[in-house]
Amino acid sequence: MICGMRSLLRALAITAAAAPLAHASPLLGEALAADPLPIPKVYLLYPGPRGTIFDVGCEALVKTPINPVAVEEAVHRAPELQALWDRGGPEYLAVTLAEIGVPFPYEEMQAALTVCPGVRSMSTPLMLNVRRFLSSAERRDPDWLFVETVYHELMHTYVRPVSAVSELRKKYATEDAVVLNHLHVMALERLVLSKLERADYLKRIGDDYRTLLAPAHKRAWTIVDEIEGHEPFIKELKELASRQR
Ligand SMILES: [Zn+2]
Repeated sequence: MICGMRSLLRALAITAAAAPLAHASPLLGEALAADPLPIPKVYLLYPGPRGTIFDVGCEALVKTPINPVAVEEAVHRAPELQALWDRGGPEYLAVTLAEIGVPFPYEEMQAALTVCPGVRSMSTPLMLNVRRFLSSAERRDPDWLFVETVYHELMHTYVRPVSAVSELRKKYATEDAVVLNHLHVMALERLVLSKLERADYLKRIGDDYRTLLAPAHKRAWTIVDEIEGHEPFIKELKELASRQR
């Protein structure tokens, strides 16, 4: 039997970073689709000396001063964050694409980093607020959570085609749009972190959804984690693959 999904997928991530998996071993073939889907390359952007144009205009936009120390650190750490994603992100995507069987819609994505106060990470435009991962943060979050956050935002883009056909979205149609837009994303997070045997990560993001973030996140997590389980949402995503054939 294989030595564990996590180590297997770590090996896969290294392979994925180097080549398009054309020569995956039979063992990998057992765990993944016979013809693995390409993993998108994600580029994280925060050029010096002042970050993005968005952050240059942030202060005027949100009427709150931006912390120049945070800008400087984000510029300095952007390559490190890129390396974190490159090391950890592809295995999240490899598991997702292998499980669902639907290609990611883009070969590459560009994500702008931001330290603008009050601006949440978002999928469109793809923007990642990294203030909580900096040494200047009041309560600094672990690096793995950055990788998971990038994954979360990418999954908003990945699950978009399901919204037009999802019976589960119809079932919960009276819920807030933010709730609906998180159902399949959170189901994927639950699936992937289970497959990667990261019960500790799953517990942390569940705790954050229940307590730290907006009520819509809590409600969506409750639906996925307690009411429905992730499986019915995953089933709907898998059905997209057969529609595309
Ligand atoms: Zn989200």
